[in-house]
Amino acid sequence: MPSIFSKIISREIPADIVYEDDVCLAFRDIAPKAPVHILVIPKHEIVSLADLSESDEALMGRCVVAASKIAASEGLSGGYRLIVNCGEDGGQEVPHLHFHLMGGRKMTWPPG
Ligand code: ADP
Repeated sequence: MPSIFSKIISREIPADIVYEDDVCLAFRDIAPKAPVHILVIPKHEIVSLADLSESDEALMGRCVVAASKIAASEGLSGGYRLIVNCGEDGGQEVPHLHFHLMGGRKMTWPPG
């Protein structure tokens, strides 16, 4: 079931894209919760962490390494947070796996 993120991948709806390669896309969150709030997604449609299989290991690695590079290019030298919400209890709203890259302020722990 295509989500709104599929439409960002296909450029049917606009987004502030900050990074793209053959398997990952990253764009600024439309409702940022931190000075830097970027979503890193696999272009391949995967609903959530709960849907991953061994064949996704390299893809997930690519997304995490992309997030690390984006964090550096955004100047987050003091640190940042990379978060995946999974399913209803995890607070996931959009059914396309995404990494929240958040930084530019001091994060608190635990998240709500
Ligand atoms: P939550 O909304 O509780 O953070 P998710 O983990 O599913 O749940 O995160 C979805 C994220 O996608 C939200 O931070 C939301 O602001 C963002 N978002 C939704 N639609 C768009 C869009 N069109 N462009 C950019 N970001 C979006």
